[in-house]
Amino acid sequence: MNAGRSAVVIGSGFGGLALAVRLQAAGLAVTLLEKRDKPGGRAYVYEDEGFVFDAGPTVITDPSALEELFAVAGRRMADYVELLPVSPFYRLCWEDSSHFDYANDQAELDRQIAARNPADVEGYRRFLDYSRAVFKEGYIKLGAEPFLHFRDMVRAGPQLAKLQAWRSVYAKVSQYIEDEHLRQAFSFHSLLVGGNPFATSSIYALIHALEREWGVWFPRGGTGALVRGLVRLFEDLGGRIVLDAEVARIETAGARATAVLTQDGRRFAADMVASNADVVHTYDRLLAGTRRGAGEARRLKARKFSMSLFVIYFGLSKHQESLRHHTVCFGPRYRDLIREIFSGRTLAGDFSLYLHSPCATDPSLAPAGAGSYYVLAPVPHLGNAPIDWTVEGPRYRDRIFDYLEARYMPNLRRDLVTSRIFTPFDFRDELNSHLGSAFSLDPVLTQSAFFRPHNRDDQIGNLYFVGAGTHPGAGVPGVVGSAKATARLMIEDARLSETEPA
Ligand SMILES: Cc1cc2nc3c(=O)[nH]c(=O)nc-3n(C[C@H](O)[C@H](O)[C@H](O)COP(=O)(O)OP(=O)(O)OC[C@H]3O[C@@H](n4cnc5c(N)ncnc54)[C@H](O)[C@@H]3O)c2cc1C
Repeated sequence: MNAGRSAVVIGSGFGGLALAVRLQAAGLAVTLLEKRDKPGGRAYVYEDEGFVFDAGPTVITDPSALEELFAVAGRRMADYVELLPVSPFYRLCWEDSSHFDYANDQAELDRQIAARNPADVEGYRRFLDYSRAVFKEGYIKLGAEPFLHFRDMVRAGPQLAKLQAWRSVYAKVSQYIEDEHLRQAFSFHSLLVGGNPFATSSIYALIHALEREWGVWFPRGGTGALVRGLVRLFEDLGGRIVLDAEVARIETAGARATAVLTQDGRRFAADMVASNADVVHTYDRLLAGTRRGAGEARRLKARKFSMSLFVIYFGLSKHQESLRHHTVCFGPRYRDLIREIFSGRTLAGDFSLYLHSPCATDPSLAPAGAGSYYVLAPVPHLGNAPIDWTVEGPRYRDRIFDYLEARYMPNLRRDLVTSRIFTPFDFRDELNSHLGSAFSLDPVLTQSAFFRPHNRDDQIGNLYFVGAGTHPGAGVPGVVGSAKATARLMIEDARLSETEPA
């Protein structure tokens, strides 16, 4: 099956890795080229002074999508990586010192909701029913479908209309829930995949049901252990991964991609090429000089891009036991802050933070008794706010440390052993992300499904895309779903081309 067909995948984010595994398992000979010195993309791992920092995804949901990657290869995930349950899923905190533990325990949820607003107990049940309905339609049925044709969109239309997909996540949550803090608690999820809760389609309310259905998990050894598990699986199947291999150009002949050239002059010929790199980068830089590249790059640059992030990875000599694994620290403003993050021209004076404390689940990520952490603040992308992050970065870090020390992490500075920052400049320069966006195209309805870059290019017939810039979008389950859609197309195309003369 597919014997002799070769594929090159550019980029080893979760989307690229999942695609490479599926193709290799189907019999293609896959070479995975990664610009950086380690695989994982946004799920890179930093190691400083004995502290291990997962750079990106930490909330691992839908383990079945990951298990499927091992199953298609005839293996068991448990032989490669162990997933540990996380409870509560998140602790949500506000500046009035109140908090809400979002756990997979209905009685506990009801108790906390009733303490805030008794009427919302029933409202939450109706919201959960709605969330489950969109989860079934939007994720189970459509999450791994390639939307290549407008007719695919038309077919999904009636269901999307019935679920009022044109309304925003926040509007839909507010239809059921009255308390403002609870509205925030059940609408912030779209931010995890780069979506503004006030603008993103209410389809994204499905994340809530997805977490309730399958839980929130964390790999033993960190998200990096999951990346390493997928790399090992890929290599066990005979795949080849080449690190420190930045692709400079996709070579084309007419409407076919023929090879991939790296910055240092290596050439990898391929029957099929898939890009997991940023979609604008791929069209603008890797296809520079082609009419298709120039046209698509222009079209995509006119679209709306999701926010960026400012991240601080830091290690403390003493682990702070009172912190939960995942904490969301809501600032004084919600709607206005989010508006400024998505379309503001400057950095807001306040922030909302996500704080990661992985040693709450797995103490092995720091030296004995110590704690690894990261904290992130969503910030505008560089196209909206042209901030000089070399100047602003250290200042912003100090402001965030002051805030954390005052409210959540006493003695932070006293116990600080190491810290490093990752700014929108790094998203742009390290990850080749257009405008330094952390999540690619903004997942509004008009940029989703058929309206997102397609899993197969419309003109270059053997060029494919996978990852956050394609359907269904960012987030680990999203990009793993995109890999399933892209792999199906590539495997079908490879079979078809087998019957044609090479
Ligand atoms: C800080 C942070 C926290 C997050 N938290 C979560 C979370 O908790 N849960 C969740 O589900 N999602 C989370 N996300 C989102 C999720 O991490 C991403 O949407 C997802 O990992 C993106 O995967 P991807 O396949 O699109 O590839 P990416 O991770 O974007 O990887 C693309 C790869 O392509 C490489 N590349 C780029 N250009 C080239 C080139 N020219 N040649 C060779 N290689 C190239 C890059 O180096 C990179 O390795 C988070 C994201 C961030 C940034």
